[in-house]
Amino acid sequence: MTTPIETLPADYPGTSANKSLLEFRNIRIVYDNAIEAIRDVSMTVPVGAIVGLLGSNGAGKSTLLKAMSGILYTEEGEIESGSISFLGESVHDLAPDELVRRGIVQVPEGRRVFPALTIDENLQMGGYTRSATEAREQRDKVFALFPRLHERRNQIAGYMSGGEQQMLAIGRALMTGPVLLALDEPSLGLAPLIIDRIYEVIAKLRDEMKLTVLLVEQNAQRALDICDYAYILETGRVVLDGTPRKLSANEDVQEFYLGVSGSGRKSMRDVKHYKRRKRWLS
Ligand code: ATP
Repeated sequence: MTTPIETLPADYPGTSANKSLLEFRNIRIVYDNAIEAIRDVSMTVPVGAIVGLLGSNGAGKSTLLKAMSGILYTEEGEIESGSISFLGESVHDLAPDELVRRGIVQVPEGRRVFPALTIDENLQMGGYTRSATEAREQRDKVFALFPRLHERRNQIAGYMSGGEQQMLAIGRALMTGPVLLALDEPSLGLAPLIIDRIYEVIAKLRDEMKLTVLLVEQNAQRALDICDYAYILETGRVVLDGTPRKLSANEDVQEFYLGVSGSGRKSMRDVKHYKRRKRWLS
């Protein structure tokens, strides 16, 4: 079942289908019945797009992903109000394994691979919901996307570099045959050249595998280079959203997220200790 996307912003990019895949509507999330992590967030992820979710530490990005994957309860978190729907059906009460079966899969921050298993065994673990034939086909696709994983398929995952582990974490998520892949900070702690490689793959997921991607990043520059639309989250609420062109042209985004001001590139210290108040807070 699908729904028309009457709620999509007018400047949404011309994505392949005129449909919304995932919607957060007026979501409020609290931890331990007390800590409000997300306040009244609404977000739409259309079919076939890469949507960026940007924001600094503690903004609430991972909390939204955990809500989407049904794992908030593991941390005493709860959706207090609002809804999450996937292809027009309410999904915020579903168990994590049912969400995976419906096609919602997340690559968590910190690329948690099984370190004692080989690359091949890690991929097999990812394909546990599929038949043997489907899992084989999916594994071939993963190896085509990441030839490096194929070369090293019998090696122990724990001995691989950070970049290779990130590739494996993405590969393992792809084994489930997702419709929507959420990536939590895929560039974290990686060298620029490795990030280039990971981002090339993310573009291929959209362009060649026709997946929809929700990309959570602190690295706004990288994310804006690739995504079709992005939301900026601060202290649990969306403060700005738009196309990369619109966001990159915004002075506050330039200053506080891209490290650039009218007088040129700023140091991270300046960015962290900014004096001017953001316009969206006034
Ligand atoms: P980061 O990039 O550091 O992961 P984030 O944008 O993903 O940041 P969240 O981890 O979602 O942010 O955190 C949002 C808010 O919720 C923060 O104030 C954080 O302290 C709080 N929080 C997150 N997890 C928990 C938890 N398990 N229990 C209590 N509070 C939490």
